[in-house]
Amino acid sequence: MHKPIEMNLDKMSCRSWSQEGIYRLLLNVLHPDVAERWQDLVVYGGNGKAARNLESLETIIYALKNLRDDETLLVQSGKAVGVIQSHPEAARVLISSSQLVPSHASWEEFRTLESRGLTMYGQSTAASWAYIGMQGVLQGTCDTFGELANQNFEGTLKGKIVLSSGLGGMGSAQPLAVEIHGGVAIIVEVDPDKVTRRLRNSEVGVAMDSLDKAWQLATDYAVKGLPLSIALLGNAAEVYPQCLRENKLPDIVTDQTAAHDLLSGYIPILLSPTEARDLRRSDPEQYLKRSLESIARHGKAMLELAQKGAIVFDYGNNIRGQAERAGVEGIWSIPSFVSAFLRPVLSIGKGPIRWIALSGNPKDIYRLDQELLKRMAEDKNLFRWIHFVQERVHFQGLPARGCWLDYSQRIALAQIISELVRQGDLSGPIAVTRDHLDGGSVAAPHRETEGMLDGSDAIADWPILNALTNATCGADLVSLQHGGGVGIGESIHAGMTVIIDGTESAERRATRVLRADPSMGIIRHADAGYEGAVQAAQRLGLRPWDLGREL
Ligand code: NAD
Repeated sequence: MHKPIEMNLDKMSCRSWSQEGIYRLLLNVLHPDVAERWQDLVVYGGNGKAARNLESLETIIYALKNLRDDETLLVQSGKAVGVIQSHPEAARVLISSSQLVPSHASWEEFRTLESRGLTMYGQSTAASWAYIGMQGVLQGTCDTFGELANQNFEGTLKGKIVLSSGLGGMGSAQPLAVEIHGGVAIIVEVDPDKVTRRLRNSEVGVAMDSLDKAWQLATDYAVKGLPLSIALLGNAAEVYPQCLRENKLPDIVTDQTAAHDLLSGYIPILLSPTEARDLRRSDPEQYLKRSLESIARHGKAMLELAQKGAIVFDYGNNIRGQAERAGVEGIWSIPSFVSAFLRPVLSIGKGPIRWIALSGNPKDIYRLDQELLKRMAEDKNLFRWIHFVQERVHFQGLPARGCWLDYSQRIALAQIISELVRQGDLSGPIAVTRDHLDGGSVAAPHRETEGMLDGSDAIADWPILNALTNATCGADLVSLQHGGGVGIGESIHAGMTVIIDGTESAERRATRVLRADPSMGIIRHADAGYEGAVQAAQRLGLRPWDLGREL
């Protein structure tokens, strides 16, 4: 087994901060505290990888170290394939991951090509080197449960029991998100090592290995109106039907196993993680058959829990698509988390931004927290959020902050960071990046773009325009990927990163990108007829017919 690659934060390994920042982000997503399986280059989300293999990783690192300020590195599904002459304000790195011609975009074809070493699964922020651990999706998860509470329980989950599964890279945000709203979470996880890891990082309150005991404790806390999170060691495809059989009926049900990938992300019943790994290698067809059988039980139980009155939603892992393949009828009556809870916010340009201290100094993040709170004092949610994460979230790898910011706040962020770096108020440059789940950066008809007002769910021009726009505006890294969240054939999405090092060029490019990027979310939703987006587009002069308006 290779060793984790050490990041030397005391000296520059590349020629300039643009390349250096990207290099540090790449090593960061593979840091043992950040990646779910750094040994396999797997960052999160089933098999979401940062590089195709060790040799490709070494080549990417070599290329980044030698890349000049007027060159651009091309990365094709985790492998550095070329360097082109560009110019100093162009993107330093362009990434395309897991793309297949649409008529070939099936898991079967993907796996054949992957086994021949021609591609890799990049998830969303794994292949674009923007993952920051659980914190990256925490606010989205909190807001999802918050909106669910607003819509159904007068704004609180106090006294409510949430049943979910998966304590992986994304799923581990669930316990804290339920607790922050006062609820009790039971999260089923099949891998004892994941349970231990989440307990060690205080990402979950207690661990249990029997549904009876977990249900008793959950009920005790719910009756008293106290928050708690319980990791329940077990298989979701067994525990969900057991809840039904024993009339243990949670108020809310969802799932964050990596069900989008039935071979590498989902573990069928009666298999331990080690047995699953062995069967996956020795007989993948048998594995897939057993996964589908388990998904059938799992999906059917979710549907029946909904029929018994639970609020049930798909948490972005395509469990409904898989359950349909497994023969579960009526599964599409369960909504996706975006159409049910997040679209109103995404449609007006508010989305998941994250910033990372490339110096490795946590004080840089706290100094930025302080400055944002001062300059955005009118935003009470931001105030609550920053104080909450300061208190409850440990940094994983390089110190970072994840936060949902709107159009004006994103532009202000670029300028605040640039000013502080230039003045020497921070110990080093900052990378600003975002999740691929944003208003204008993704097409996923069973997730982000499910049930669009104008029926444009499957139109994938938007993420492509988003990537082209960010490259035009001079982002340091732009990525365009396929299959993140929901799997091959199910999504196209784009990411971007800017490295703000205090220079005028970086500030100019970062400001352009952080203005254009949320504009895409507004434009996409205005085009689909969302009223809030139409108004925002008019106000900001974003559409051809809004040009020339007095702003
Ligand atoms: P991950 O691979 O890091 O973790 C999945 C976890 O599920 C693992 O710990 C695994 O042991 C567990 N698991 C697998 N099968 C199980 C079973 N049958 N019963 C109980 N536990 C089981 O994945 P992740 O990064 O946490 O992502 C989870 C899913 O959410 C993925 O499908 C991913 O694509 C999707 N996703 C969600 C979001 C979001 O914003 N919520 C964003 C991106 C992706």
